[in-house]
Formats: sequence, structure tokens, C-alpha cells
Amino acid sequence: MTAISDTKTMQAYVLHGAKDIRLEQAPLPVLSPDEVLVKVRAAGICGSDLHYYAHGKCGNFIPTEPFILGHEFAGEIVAAGDEKNASLVGTRVAVDPSRPCGKCKLCRQGRYNLCPDMVYFGSASVVPPSAGCFAEYVAAPARNCAPLPDDFEYAWGALLEPLSVAAHAVQRSGGVSGKSVLITGGGTIGQMIQLVATAFGATKVVVSDVKSFAREFAIKQGATATLDPTSPDCAAQAAEIAPDGFEVVFEAAGVGAALNQAFALCAKGATLVQVGTLPDGTEIPANALLTRELQYIGSWRFANVFERVIELVVSGRIDVRPLITRRYPFEQFQEAIVDATGADVIKVQIENVS
Ligand SMILES: [Zn+2]
Ligand SMILES: [Zn+2]
Repeated sequence: MTAISDTKTMQAYVLHGAKDIRLEQAPLPVLSPDEVLVKVRAAGICGSDLHYYAHGKCGNFIPTEPFILGHEFAGEIVAAGDEKNASLVGTRVAVDPSRPCGKCKLCRQGRYNLCPDMVYFGSASVVPPSAGCFAEYVAAPARNCAPLPDDFEYAWGALLEPLSVAAHAVQRSGGVSGKSVLITGGGTIGQMIQLVATAFGATKVVVSDVKSFAREFAIKQGATATLDPTSPDCAAQAAEIAPDGFEVVFEAAGVGAALNQAFALCAKGATLVQVGTLPDGTEIPANALLTRELQYIGSWRFANVFERVIELVVSGRIDVRPLITRRYPFEQFQEAIVDATGADVIKVQIENVS
């Protein structure tokens, strides 16, 4: 290892169970030759982190031991596991949290987001769980580190992971240019899909959410209109905006009611992209799929877009700054994660300037 201080431990927030995250001294990650040590400067709290925090698990992912959460981050490379990467020390980077096997059929096809041996940062999808970024340092493969342009803030870098999820969903739809678009669910991913769909030339982009905060935010960010699915006028309002239904629909709420609305508002021949994680056993309106010849497709994490979304931000086609609702210093992680569970937030981030 090159150029790292003598400290062998670091501070990290470790998940022990539901509502039980502890600040601990953890061992500094040991680098393999292809890895670099990243000092975390900005980290975002994701919906999946909140699931782990609330329930001690996330869907089917049940941690077998305590681990560090977090997968949206940017920071500075401070050490390299091998001489060949020594020149990277000092580089400001955002880190793609996907570590696929690189060898299986899906990896070789470029669909590495579907790799059965995927190791994602801060996830209990593997045993033991993989360490995440709510810590002072993270060990990351050098190839996962995307250099940030000079005036590109770490906080924006920590938004590249959810932005990649949104860009992948738009890609999965087959394209939105010249089309009417509906997004059900105005959380971080839904709002980012709105931004990407608008940047890629959708004619109308409508966001549906039960929360007025999310609807107002979407309008401020350039959405054509919003829908309140609990309003009795919702169907009439939707018909006014898109009389024949929407041509591309993104379900980003992960709620059965939103899925039903998404199907109901599809135009004939529309594409519906499932982005939100639905509860097991959610019913799908199969006859709507049949009689309107809909295409219902899934979008899981992302592949091959992480570095490219940087350009969307640099070029000004997407302004990510308003998405950051609040930032907390590393020391105030506990306050931050409670804040992130609140109703009126898009993205809460941790920053470490020390
Ligand atoms: Zn996330
Ligand atoms: Zn693979």
C-alpha cells in the first residue's frame, strides 16, 4: 500500500439491527492489488438504507452479521493496493458500487447488473454482507472510480448512483423522445427519471405522488404537470393531459396502488418500466397488459451508464443540486438518517470535510 497514514482503524456507522446503528472503530479496509482506498467525502442515504435501518433487513436481504450501510458516495483516493494505481492517489472520484464477477454470461453480455455473483457496496445480498460507505474510508476497485471534473462537487458525485438508476430505466424504456411520460412515485428516483426524461426530449412528463411536497418539487424541477392519485379528479386530470394515455410509464413508487394507476394510465401499445421494488405477491393487471398490448419490463440498478451520467450534469442538461435537501456532517449521521425518513425530503447526504 502506498501513502496512507499509520492509522489502522477508522470510524464507521455499523448496523446491528432495526434502529440500531452504532459509531464504532472498525479496521481500515485491507486493499487487494486492484483496489484503492477512498476517503469518503459525501455519501447519500438511500431508500434501501432506510429499509435496513427500520427493519434490520431490506426485503429478502437479511444481514448475517453487523455491517456498514451506504452505496452512494464520492471521495478522494488516498492509497492504492498496487504500484500501478499509485498515480491515482489524490484523484477526486465518484464510486460505482457494482462489483460483478466479470466472467459469467450476463457479465460478458454487458448486463452485469444481473450478475448472480454481484457484490454491491453496503448490501446484505451476499454473505457476509459487503461494507458500505457510511465510514471514513472504503476499499473500491480502481476501475469503479470515475474521476470528477475539477468544479464537480463531491455531493453531486454521491448522486451519480441514483442518477444512473434513473438513466438506466429511461434506456430500458426504449426511449422517451417525442413521447408522453408518466412517473408514479416522486422520490429520488422518480424525480431523477423526470429530469432525465425531460433532458432526453419527452414532450410531456407528469409525476404522480400522494405527497404534495413531491408534486410541488416535480413542478419546480420542470415537470409538465403532477397528479394526486388520491384525488377523485385524478383520472379526469390525466385524461386532459394525455387523452389516449401515456406512451411511456415508469413505476417508481413500489406500491401496488401506484402499479394499478400506472397500468390504468398506459396508452395502447405503451411501455411500462418497473423501477420501484414492489412487495412480494403484488398483483399485476394482466388483462390490461394483454388487451392493450403493453410492454411491462423491469429495470434493476444499472449497467454501463455511471461515467456517462457525469456528462449530463457537466453539460447542464441536468441540475442535480436541488435534489439535495440537507447535508449533515459525518458526526451527525444519526440525525441525518432520522431526517431522511421524514416526509418532506428528496435526498439527505452526509459530508466529511475533516
Ligand atoms: Zn441507492
Ligand atoms: Zn457475472
